Amino acid sequence: MEGKLPIFEKPKVELHVHLDGSIKPETILHYANKRQIKLLADTVEGLLQHVAYKEPLSFTEFLAKFNHYMPAIAGDLSPDEVVRLVNQGLREGERDFSVKARSILCCMRHMPNWSAEVVELCKKYRNDTVVAIDLAGDELISCEAFSRHREAYEEALKCGIHRTVHAGEVGPSSVVREAVDILKAERIGHGYRTLEDPVLYKELLDKNMHFELCPWSSYLTSSCCSDFTKHPAVQLRNDKANYSLSSDDPLIFGSTLNKDYKLAKKYMGFTEEEFIQMNINAAQSCFLPETEKKELLNQLYEAYGMILSTEL
Ligand SMILES: [Zn+2]
Repeated sequence: MEGKLPIFEKPKVELHVHLDGSIKPETILHYANKRQIKLLADTVEGLLQHVAYKEPLSFTEFLAKFNHYMPAIAGDLSPDEVVRLVNQGLREGERDFSVKARSILCCMRHMPNWSAEVVELCKKYRNDTVVAIDLAGDELISCEAFSRHREAYEEALKCGIHRTVHAGEVGPSSVVREAVDILKAERIGHGYRTLEDPVLYKELLDKNMHFELCPWSSYLTSSCCSDFTKHPAVQLRNDKANYSLSSDDPLIFGSTLNKDYKLAKKYMGFTEEEFIQMNINAAQSCFLPETEKKELLNQLYEAYGMILSTEL
C-alpha cells in the first residue's frame, strides 16, 4: 500500500535551501574553466575537499567556504539580470523535473546598503518566481545600519511581499525577537535559540510561527550541540510546533534533504506520521499564492494517501 512507503521516497517540501550553496561541483569547474578563473582545485574531488566538510566548524569558517568557489559563479551581471536568469532556470527546472520552485531574495546582514535594491527586485519579480525577502549572514556581527534592513522589510510588508529571516541560528533569542517584532517575519530561518526565551517561544507557538530547521547544517556550523538527541527539533516536535526540515547548503554540507530526514529518524525518533505532518505544515507555511498552495497541499494529500481527508 502506498501509504506505507517511507517518506524518503515521497514528495517533500523544502523551504530553506540557498542557491549558492546548492551548485554542482561540475558546474563550478565548468565556469571556472570557461572564465579562466583559478580555483584551489580543478577536479570534483579536489574542489569538494576545500568546499564540503563533515566535522563542525565555526560559523565564520563555514561562511568562508563560499569564497572558495563563488568567484567562478558570480559574474559581471547586474542584480536584476541575476534574478531574471535564476527565474528562467527555476522555470526550466520546474518543467523538466515536475517540481515547484520559487525563489526568496536575501538581504545580507553585513551589506545593509543592498537591502533597498533587494526589496525592489522582490517587487519587480513578485509575479515571476520571486515570493519573499530574507535576511541572511552572520547574526553576530554588529550592523550599524540595521535601519536599512528594517526599511526594506517595511516596504516588503507594505507591498505584500512575504518575509522570512535567519534568526536565532548562532545569534541570541533577541535576534528572533527583532525578526518577529521589527521585521515582521512570517517564518524564522533556524530559530534554535528561541528556546532560550520561554516567553518568546510560547508567543511563537501561539502564533503558529513556522521554523525552518536544518539539523545537519546546525551541526556543521556549530549552531547546535553535537548531540542530535538534544536538538531543538526534538522540543519543537514534542510541543507540536509548526516546523519543517531543510538542507540549507547541500553542496557545502555534502548532503541531500534525505540526510536531515535520516538524522531526525535515527537520533530524534521522528515517525512517518511526524514527517508527513511537517511537510503539510511546510506547504501551509510556504509563500505560494493561495490557489497554488491549495494545489500543492492536494498533491501532498494524494501522495501520502490522505486524499479522503481533504476538503475539496
Ligand atoms: Zn540559510
